[in-house]
Amino acid sequence: MEAAGGYSESPGPRRLSSLWADRSLRAKGLIVGVVPIGAFLLTAFLATIEVGVIAGFACSLASIVFFTTSVARRVQRNKENARRLAEGSPLLAPISGRDEVGGVALALQRASAVLTDRQAALEESEAMYRTLARNFPDGVVGLFDHDLRFTLMEGKGLEPIGFTKERLEGRTITEVGQELFPETVHVAEAQYRAALMGEKSTTERLVNDHTFLVQIVPVRSETGEVVAGMLVGLDITDRKDAEEELRRAEAFLDSVVENIPNMVFVKSAEDLRFVRFNRAGEELLGYSRSDLLGKNDYDLFPPEEAEFFTSKDREVLESGRLVDIAEERIQTRERGERFLHTRKIPILDADGHPVYLLGISEDITDRRRADAQIRATKELAERANRAKDEFLSRMSHELRTPLNAVLGFAQILEMEDPTPDQHESVRQILAAGRHLLGLIDEVLDVSRIATGSISLSSEPVSVTDALTEAADLIRPLAVERGIRLRIDDADGLHVLADRQRLKQVLLNLLSNGVKYNREGGDILVTSAHVTPDRLAIRVADTGVGIASEAMARLFDPFDRLGAEMSGVEGTGLGLALSKGLIEAMGGTVKAESEAGAGSAFTIELGLAEPPVDRFEREWGGHEATPSQVTPSRTILYIEDNLSNLRLIERIISDRPQIRLLSAMQASLGLELARDHLPDLVLLDLHLPDMAGDEALRRLRQDPTTRTIPVVMISADATQAQIDRLLAAGADEYLTKPLDVKRFLQIVEAMLDREPSGP
Ligand code: ADP
Repeated sequence: MEAAGGYSESPGPRRLSSLWADRSLRAKGLIVGVVPIGAFLLTAFLATIEVGVIAGFACSLASIVFFTTSVARRVQRNKENARRLAEGSPLLAPISGRDEVGGVALALQRASAVLTDRQAALEESEAMYRTLARNFPDGVVGLFDHDLRFTLMEGKGLEPIGFTKERLEGRTITEVGQELFPETVHVAEAQYRAALMGEKSTTERLVNDHTFLVQIVPVRSETGEVVAGMLVGLDITDRKDAEEELRRAEAFLDSVVENIPNMVFVKSAEDLRFVRFNRAGEELLGYSRSDLLGKNDYDLFPPEEAEFFTSKDREVLESGRLVDIAEERIQTRERGERFLHTRKIPILDADGHPVYLLGISEDITDRRRADAQIRATKELAERANRAKDEFLSRMSHELRTPLNAVLGFAQILEMEDPTPDQHESVRQILAAGRHLLGLIDEVLDVSRIATGSISLSSEPVSVTDALTEAADLIRPLAVERGIRLRIDDADGLHVLADRQRLKQVLLNLLSNGVKYNREGGDILVTSAHVTPDRLAIRVADTGVGIASEAMARLFDPFDRLGAEMSGVEGTGLGLALSKGLIEAMGGTVKAESEAGAGSAFTIELGLAEPPVDRFEREWGGHEATPSQVTPSRTILYIEDNLSNLRLIERIISDRPQIRLLSAMQASLGLELARDHLPDLVLLDLHLPDMAGDEALRRLRQDPTTRTIPVVMISADATQAQIDRLLAAGADEYLTKPLDVKRFLQIVEAMLDREPSGP
């Protein structure tokens, strides 16, 4: 600037004229004293200068006018651009210049460029923010200004409630609230205002069936000044629904627990304090829930009861399993002492650790009392029944003794050559007496079964043998009435039974098959496996059958189902006895019948291995080869079970020095003993005509047989029985199934002794 204004280099027109006008210069006499040519020249020169000055002035004036116009235009452009800048519109092209106006234009341009950049950045960040907000899951995000007007509203939560951001942006909360929640709009306004004052708030708001958890918070600038408010609304409808569902389920469960008629309680596993009780619990214990919750057993019950309860609680928690307490006593406040049946169950957390203990208690006091009463009544009835059975049993014994005399003397009379009339009378006495004896025996057996005092000898019994023996006895009766009796072979099968009693049952069934059959009818006996280890023996007839309504009474003692009117003899005891006997042997008896067509009775019993088979299996063996050795020892076996007899025969067959005698009845056995004086008597305890112990007594009484060693063989293995027989004079007692080794030791010992010989 300084250089541009320097005189020496380019004096401008304004400076020349001013020089001319300068009096001090003229006074210096530069022009006075010059010659006239010079004066002329000077005048001309001055005139030229004058013209120049004027021209210069004109030029300067023109320049000034031009300059002023150009500056005004640029200032105008700058002004326009400044307005546009303020408006945010694009600027007009600047009119350049190197002066200050140009500088302003440049500054305006730069400001515009900066503003444009900032605007772009702002738009970009707003777009990003909107994108973020738009993707806000299950909710909405909004911004509002100091007029409570939404400047932004985005989020995926808008659509489900039927809203768009356009419907909300630009409107105030008052306008929106009046439309959506007119009743609480003032609350919302207050919250929005509070946010602008820097306070945040949270509410739940229902909008078009959607529940939002709404947070209204202030938005602060970097300096901490609240510049806007923000709304964050989370759509919690699903969660709410789930909570509601859960609440409903819990309420349902609560009402179930509440209405269970048993006491239900929950204790905390940590300190065994009650955390839950139902109504039945309150009523039983006589405390209100508030009295019970938070307490432990020691707070409520006597110490010994509390100790018992807590010890059971610990057992449950330690074992992690249900504990069933069949009976526990509890002292209640209003109802005195009660008895409970309680089940305690641990409630485990996800890691399997007990957190609670659930208890369910049933008040069994009344039931217990009723049970005790029933027990007492039953005991009384049983005692009365026992007394009845004992009476029957005693009476039967008492009747037997005189009856034996009647029968005995009648037989003597029969032998003493009576007249035909007397013979007929004696025959009648014998028939009636035997019938009475049979009846007494049956009554005795029924009462023994009822009292459980019947003595049975369970051993393998050949079904074929038992059936054949029974059929042989019945056949004459069947033939008399033209009834065909067919017995299918039982294939050598054995059942576990008391031989005599099984025969008795089969006899009864076969005799009924004859008695209640029609003339010329049929009886068919078959045997079949029911399971691999059970056998069914079926006795079917083609007789009168049994009415279906009478079937239920078929096995009742003394009930003849009306047969007493038919003239068929009977006592009504046979089936009752048969059933009792078979059941006592571990079997069953069933009946099926069709009135007019016939009946079938089926006995089911467990299968047993035949004794000889067992011996062969365990001892292996070869058939004995015929020997020339003369037997030097004799064994007498008194046994009615052929299977056992065969076994002993088989064992002895390997010892040719031994001769085996056998008898299937005690009386014959005693006779053989006297006649042959055997080296050893093997005596079965259950014999058809005499009890084994009676046979033993007789052997010991008879001087000829007194010293013969007697070995009892019985299926009855009770120690009392063994002791009794050893005391009665038996040398050994072997139980069935036979201990072959022990038996052989006895035989060996016998062989070592001197032969007794007859
Ligand atoms: P009892 O033959 O001595 O009368 P039971 O106890 O053997 O006694 O039988 C009871 C009743 O069952 C018989 O009186 C008879 O009415 C009926 N009953 C038994 N067996 C048969 C049968 N096979 N067919 C038809 N009725 C039978």
